[in-house]
Amino acid sequence: MTDCNKIANLIFPDVSEDCEYYENLYPHRELSEGARVTRFAPSPTGYLHFGGLYAAFASKLTAQATNGIFMLRIEDTDKKREIEDGISCIVDGLSAFGVAPDEGVMGLNEEKGSYGPYIQSKRRQIYRTFVKKLVEEGRAYPCFCSPEDLEEIHKQQENEDIKGYYGKYAHCRDLSDEEIEERIKNGDSFTVRLRSIGDISRKITFDDLIKGKIEMSENVNDVVILKADGIPTYHFAHAVDDHLMRTSHVVRGDEWVASVPLHIELFKALGFKPVKYAHIAPIMKEEDGGKRKLSKRKDPEANVSYYIEKGYPAESVQEYILTILNSNFEDWRKGNKEEDISKFPFNLKKMSVSGALFDMVKFNDVSKNVISKMDVQTVYNYITKWAKDYDNELFDLLSQDSEKAKAILNIDRENPKPRKDIACWNEVKNYLSYFYNEIYSADYSLPENIKKADALMILEKYADAYSGKDSKEEWFAKIKDLCEPCGFTPNVKEYKAEPEKYKGHVGDVSSVIRIAITSRINTPDLYYIMQILGKDEVIRRINEAMNNYRG
Ligand code: GLU
Ligand code: ZN
Repeated sequence: MTDCNKIANLIFPDVSEDCEYYENLYPHRELSEGARVTRFAPSPTGYLHFGGLYAAFASKLTAQATNGIFMLRIEDTDKKREIEDGISCIVDGLSAFGVAPDEGVMGLNEEKGSYGPYIQSKRRQIYRTFVKKLVEEGRAYPCFCSPEDLEEIHKQQENEDIKGYYGKYAHCRDLSDEEIEERIKNGDSFTVRLRSIGDISRKITFDDLIKGKIEMSENVNDVVILKADGIPTYHFAHAVDDHLMRTSHVVRGDEWVASVPLHIELFKALGFKPVKYAHIAPIMKEEDGGKRKLSKRKDPEANVSYYIEKGYPAESVQEYILTILNSNFEDWRKGNKEEDISKFPFNLKKMSVSGALFDMVKFNDVSKNVISKMDVQTVYNYITKWAKDYDNELFDLLSQDSEKAKAILNIDRENPKPRKDIACWNEVKNYLSYFYNEIYSADYSLPENIKKADALMILEKYADAYSGKDSKEEWFAKIKDLCEPCGFTPNVKEYKAEPEKYKGHVGDVSSVIRIAITSRINTPDLYYIMQILGKDEVIRRINEAMNNYRG
């Protein structure tokens, strides 16, 4: 007759509390009906992946939509894979994009909430208490197999459908008490395994909130729940943490679907009510006509720091993530142009089963749109904050004369049809370079249909007519007036009807002036650009352009 209590005490002399103690320490949450408690539970093994941010955002949104709670838990049970600043990468990455948790790990040495600690390495005693209970109940046992023994089992299973530690392969499942006692006293290294009561011919089903009903065979493996170093495996920690933190919905990557039968067995063995699952398919990317996973290795945009370095505002990233998170978001946005994202009725069930498609071109369009709607002060604050870290020269230019900078950034902004030029702050320097001689180098190249001699003539007449005091209407009337004497027509329709009669139309004349002043064919409103540059600078640039065409 096995004396489970004796073995449990032998393995866990350090455990002084019982499970009841923790059940009482972490009581059920008093939340409103239907409130969801979710968590993001990354391992601090590298930078925050876009897919991680995406999953965290889905968790946060579903909690928010139900007046629930979104937690951040750090899963650092695998110390070998951990990187030094892993935790700050995650915390900073989430908060940079407005996905900060309500509870859990908030900073390097900062936790919030009464269900902690939220870092698994600090929960060692909790896990051991629950493993001890399983040993007491005969649902877990010590396994003394060495890595070589396991390797041998692995070899023998070459032709088996099911691999792992079960049935005749589970050598330590029925060791005698004496042997166990002897080996533990002897100081032999051991793990603790679940004693599975699953049957491969039986099925479990569960309703995945994203993928729908899933049917799988029961778990039969006596998996390791406590490693030789006394630290639990991911599977065991998942069951204990999500139970004690009173998580209701686990939103995670679909690489974990295969583990659900095990997780359900663990929840049941521990006497816990299983959580609800929502498994997210990986984010895909189109390539060479096919699709592949967004890859950490191949795609710089897979790393969340990419968006920080390029200067994409949180609003843009959120807006884009939502467009690929829920297929009905774009329609909602059309009907609710000014509404805050938090008002969108997010639904896990509307997430893509096959994997959302990531498209950088679309991302940039979304971002341009979001930025175009920001007021000038917001844009100015964002850019200077970004430039402080990533572009000192730009920072100096913009902060030396903030009124000028804001005037520039406000051209064609704060109106019902703002221009959509900027996708990220990294583009700003080039966007406004012609306003600052410090970073501007002129390029007077003309489009093919305009001759240098004509450009020269246009600029001569323009320099004479330009006063710097004209209203926008007066200014444009003057441009029209100089068309005909130069052989161009002020009337585009007239030009289209008889193109052979003219050298070009008023658009070409404006282009010549625009190029002289900005070196570009396409800019925001030229009238305002000249106002900001001032009359002297405008005339100086026109003269320089004329010299260039003369030369
Ligand atoms: N630490 C696990 C991972 O990073 C978490 C999986 C889960 O959310 O349960 O993949
Ligand atoms: Zn064994």
